[in-house]
Amino acid sequence: MEIGPKDVAKGSVVLARRDRPGKEGKSFVSQDGIAESVEQQLGAIQKALFERALAFRNTHTFEPKNLEDFRIAVEQGFARSYWCGDAKCEEQIKETTKATLRCIPTEQPGGTGACIHCGKPSNELAIFGKAY
Ligand SMILES: [Zn+2]
Repeated sequence: MEIGPKDVAKGSVVLARRDRPGKEGKSFVSQDGIAESVEQQLGAIQKALFERALAFRNTHTFEPKNLEDFRIAVEQGFARSYWCGDAKCEEQIKETTKATLRCIPTEQPGGTGACIHCGKPSNELAIFGKAY
């Protein structure tokens, strides 16, 4: 929020979004109703940051069908693969690929597949990734 002498004289405020540097992210709003303007801007910023993060996650999540593709996937982002749920299998995945289990999404497609590492049947897809 920028308020200079000219803004004071005009009864306005400059709002500059840090997620959109430069002129594109600047808007001139009236001091009247500034709380509502800021609240609206913060909501728009939150939405934009979320959508950017979601798009990044979606373009960096892969569905490898074998362990070699899994290794390549976790080098570039996340691997969404069937996993048997066995802690020993998880440990072996970590040893051979350096990737660890990130989460088991609550939303599952409902199908079954072979564990990406041991091949045992599984009905859960899990997300794996490397720590930075
Ligand atoms: Zn397994």
